[in-house]
Amino acid sequence: MVIGEMTQEVDLVIVGAGPGGYPAALRAAELGIKCVLVDTSPAPGGVCLHVGCIPSKALLHASEVIESAAASSNFGIKFAAPEIDINKLRSWKQSVTDKLTQGITGMLKSSGVELVHGRAIFEDSRNLRIEYGGDKQPNRIKFKNAILATGSSQTRLPGLACASPLLLDSTSALQLEDVPGKLLVVGGGYIGLELGTVYSSLGSAVTVVEMTDGLLPGVDRDLVRPLITHLQQKFKSILLNTRVTAIVERASGLAVTFTCNGETTTSLFDKVLIAVGRSPNSSNIGLENTQVAVDQQRFVTIDQQCRTTDRHIFAIGDVSGQPMLAHRATRQGIVAAEVIAGLPSAFDNRAIPAVVFTQPEIAWCGITEGVAKAAEITVASARFPWSASPRALTLGEPSGLTKVIFNPDTTALLGVGITGPRAGELIAEAVLAIEMGATLEDLIVTIHPHPTLSETVMEAATAALRRLERQRKSQKACSAQIDS
Ligand code: FAD
Ligand code: NAD
Repeated sequence: MVIGEMTQEVDLVIVGAGPGGYPAALRAAELGIKCVLVDTSPAPGGVCLHVGCIPSKALLHASEVIESAAASSNFGIKFAAPEIDINKLRSWKQSVTDKLTQGITGMLKSSGVELVHGRAIFEDSRNLRIEYGGDKQPNRIKFKNAILATGSSQTRLPGLACASPLLLDSTSALQLEDVPGKLLVVGGGYIGLELGTVYSSLGSAVTVVEMTDGLLPGVDRDLVRPLITHLQQKFKSILLNTRVTAIVERASGLAVTFTCNGETTTSLFDKVLIAVGRSPNSSNIGLENTQVAVDQQRFVTIDQQCRTTDRHIFAIGDVSGQPMLAHRATRQGIVAAEVIAGLPSAFDNRAIPAVVFTQPEIAWCGITEGVAKAAEITVASARFPWSASPRALTLGEPSGLTKVIFNPDTTALLGVGITGPRAGELIAEAVLAIEMGATLEDLIVTIHPHPTLSETVMEAATAALRRLERQRKSQKACSAQIDS
């Protein structure tokens, strides 16, 4: 044993204090399990709190205020152009994160969870080595069970050699150092569109380049269409089916080479934000010293109880697969803690909501029409356009859409998609409905407050059921004709 080395023996160690790890620790503590929570950062909260969900949503709120003020000229209220104090905006965003960090630290402390600041590396299936950022003094934790909650990191653009400070990732973009005149966003997914929205509202001319043939690939196209219409006006340009093949730093900015259908062009930008996905943090943490298996994309393989292939080690959150969303990590953290405590818990959720916090927002849960088609699952769908929603009209937001996807034989609700302001709040009703096995009739007989956007869920269900009834009637009429 090295002099000064300390080995701590614990029932449960959780590696990573993000929205997966810290709720797991709190639940474990509630259930009487003594646990230690290790993170490379002294402040709990992970990517979500410090460089992800929370700072981005704070800035998106600022962006929404700017957009709403501009749009109010449509109904006769005109504001002067906004004066943006970027230093104040940055400190406000930071104050939100700081408040939440304080809250989590307090909760962990009062629950008796010990926070260890350091980098954890598995030495085998029962022992962790902790490297401290500062003096690298090794320390060891011997555990009965471990939960791996190390999250994910930004994927690099393949073949990109440039290492300029003008190249941003989501973390540096959220630092809001300045507002570049011309910003290129590489990747038309969640981060590209959310942060592109923020910078565009603050005054950048934003170009988005996406390698596939549409923004937000994987999301049903009817839901994305109203957002595209909006972004076509907001952004300088959107380049689809286009790849970035080179980025070179020049005195005047970054020269970016694009390739589309074999044609190559080069344009100059003040800054470039790379947002082409995230990869699991499963390397360089000693998993090879355990029985933990990873898949081809290096996601840790888990079962419904969040057990890995090593019986002492569980995994939750981004490191354990898609969708890489904070609320999935949290639910999995609670399941893992409960399974370790001997409770019959499982991550058997039917619907994981997803929300893109753009203007308009897009939210969906359960099955999508795209997935149903690819898997050859028979579904039917019906839409309710927000142009017919009294509340949407009073908000000046007629371009939204609510869609229900259901089993045409049983009318069981299988999926819901919503595009429009506050879609992220509205989707919660649909998640509950799917979890409870609700049918279209259940949504229709539930009284929704008037006038609210929530009525659009009931209206979409009503449209679906009326159409089914018409189809059934005409089928009956046909078979009656054939019989006679
Ligand atoms: P993380 O939050 O990544 O936490 C992992 C923790 O583990 C980190 O604190 C890290 O320091 C620590 N760690 C890693 N390796 C070690 C080690 N070896 N030893 C000790 N500690 C270690 N999701 C949403 O649901 N809604 C959103 O609005 C949203 N917005 C986002 C915006 C941005 C810009 C980004 C980047 C992501 C966003 N996400 C959002 C995704 C969300 O942040 C992640 O899904 C979520 O943080 C994953 O939680 P996690 O607990 O698995 O890991
Ligand atoms: P993403 O997977 O959402 O989008 C990446 C996009 O980049 C895709 O459209 C992809 O086709 C495109 N792309 C990939 N390589 C490219 C290339 N070489 N050139 C041009 N385009 C390319 O990934 P993201 O936006 O980086 O976000 C990562 C993850 O973080 C998300 O998948 C999500 O799980 C999470 N996240 C969630 C939220 C939210 O819940 N609101 C917000 C931000 C991030």
